[in-house]
Amino acid sequence: MIVAYDPFIGAMRRLITALVVASMLAVSATPAATAQIGQPDIIQEHWYHSYATLTLDVNAWADDYPEIINLSVVGQTEMGRNLWMLQITDESCWADLAFDGCEHLYYGGEGREGPLLLRKEVVYIDGGHHGNEHLGTELAFLVAEYYIEGWANGDQEVVDLLSTTELHILIMLNADGNDFDTRRNVNQVDLNRNYDHYWNTCPTTQPGSSAFSESETLANSIYMNDVVPHADLYITMHTGVWIMLYPWGKWPEQPSDWEMYHHIRDEVNTNISDIPIRNANQGLYPNCGTSRDYGYGVMGYPTFTFETDDEQFLLGTVEALSDRLDEELDVMHYLIQNVWYWRARLVVDSLEVEGGKVHLSVSNLGQASTSNATLLYFEEGDSTGFWLPGSNEPIEMTGLAQKGGMPQIQFDADFNFSTPGYGFAVNATNNTVTTLDFTGAPISSEGIWVLYYQKRVVDSSMWVGNPVNDSVVESNEGVEQGLLPAPSMLLVFVAFALAAINGRNSRIEQ
Ligand SMILES: [Zn+2]
Repeated sequence: MIVAYDPFIGAMRRLITALVVASMLAVSATPAATAQIGQPDIIQEHWYHSYATLTLDVNAWADDYPEIINLSVVGQTEMGRNLWMLQITDESCWADLAFDGCEHLYYGGEGREGPLLLRKEVVYIDGGHHGNEHLGTELAFLVAEYYIEGWANGDQEVVDLLSTTELHILIMLNADGNDFDTRRNVNQVDLNRNYDHYWNTCPTTQPGSSAFSESETLANSIYMNDVVPHADLYITMHTGVWIMLYPWGKWPEQPSDWEMYHHIRDEVNTNISDIPIRNANQGLYPNCGTSRDYGYGVMGYPTFTFETDDEQFLLGTVEALSDRLDEELDVMHYLIQNVWYWRARLVVDSLEVEGGKVHLSVSNLGQASTSNATLLYFEEGDSTGFWLPGSNEPIEMTGLAQKGGMPQIQFDADFNFSTPGYGFAVNATNNTVTTLDFTGAPISSEGIWVLYYQKRVVDSSMWVGNPVNDSVVESNEGVEQGLLPAPSMLLVFVAFALAAINGRNSRIEQ
C-alpha cells in the first residue's frame, strides 16, 4: 500500500519536519573541543582508544562531516570526562520542505511499502561500560566509522540508510575506567549492574549504592528517555565470551518478544556468523541491573549485549581492528540495515463500516508481534477526544506532553485490548481479521480512523498511532469517506503520527 501524496500529507510533512528539526536542534550542543586531527588510521587500527584519542577522533569527524554528524556532550564521568555522543544521519532530504526526489524515503526504502514513514528509524549503540573491555569499545567506534566513511565515499547503501535512519552512538561510557584499564568506574561500581531494572536483586558485586548512583549510567538513562525513547534497536558493546545476549539477564525465561529474537538469531546464524545468540541468563549467568535488561524492560527496545571475544592485549592488536572485528561488523550492519523490521508494523488492508461495526483486516509487516492493537475514531472537529471500541462517550485526552521532542497523547481509560470486539493481536509477518464494536460512536464520513498499537509484546514497548489511509475505508451506510480532515485535526494527527507513549513502567511479564 502506498499512501498517495496529497496537500494534507504535504502539510503534515512540513509540520513534522519542523518538529524533527526542532528536536534535533534541542539535543545538539557545541563540542567542547575542536581538535583538528584525530588518531591516524594506522595507529587507530592497532591501538585501542584512550579517552584522549577518542576525544580527538570524534571531534575530527564532527569537523570533517558536519552534514551528517552532530556531536554533543551528554554528561560527564565521575571524574569529569565528557561523554561524547555521535548522532549520525543525513538530513538533506528532510530539511528540504519540498521533498523533491526524496519520496521513496518516506516508506522506509525499497520493498518496505507500508505506512508513511513519518520520522526516521532510530538505532542506539553504546560501548565501554567496562573500562577494560577494549575490543567491545572499538566495535562501537568501528560501527560509527563504517557509516561516516561510507557516506563520505558515496557508498549508496550507506547514503540510503542515513537518509532513513538516525544512529546515536556513545562509544566510551566508562572513560575513567578505560584509562585505568579497570572494569569498574572510579567509585568501584560495576556500571552494568547499576541500572534501574531489578537493581541489586541477583548475586552480584558492586552494583553501587542505589540504581543510577553513578553519573555515567544516569546520563545514559536520561539520554534514552529524553532523546531516543522511540529507538527500535539498542546494542551495548562488551568484551568477554564471543556471544550475543538478549533479555533477560534476570530470568531464565524467554522474553515476550522471543519470536523476534529467534528470527534474528536464525538469520544471523544462517547467513552471517556462527556467533551464539542466547538469553543472557542462560547464555552467560543471571545478572540484574544491566543496561540490556533496562533497555528492554523499561524502555521497550529490542536489545542485545554484543560481546566480542577477549583475545585482546593491553594496548592494542597486531591484526588491524577492522579485520579483527570484520564478522562482528557484518552482524551489526545486518541489525542496523533491518531496523525497520524490529517492531510490529501494522497496515490496514481494509476497513468496512457496517451498522456501527467495523470489519477490519490488518497486516503486520514487521518481525515483532503486537498483542495490543485497536482502532481510535476521531470525530470531525473534535481535537480533544476520541472514541474507543465499546465506548458510549468520547475519551478525553488528558494532556499532550513532549518526550524526546516527540508529542505524546495522554488519556485515562480502562480498556482491555484482549476483550473481543475491543482490541486484537497481530503476529509477526501475519494478518488478522476482526470486527470492532463502534455502535456507540457517531461515525460519519468526516471522521478519522487511527490504528493504535504497541510496537512489541513486552509491556514497556511504545505505542504508536497511524491514521488509516482513506482509500481502504469503505462504508455500507451511504456515506463516502475521503474528505480532507478539518484543520483542527492537524495537531492530533501529528501527535499520533510521531509517537504516542503510554505510561512507562518497569512491570515485567513473567
Ligand atoms: Zn562487559
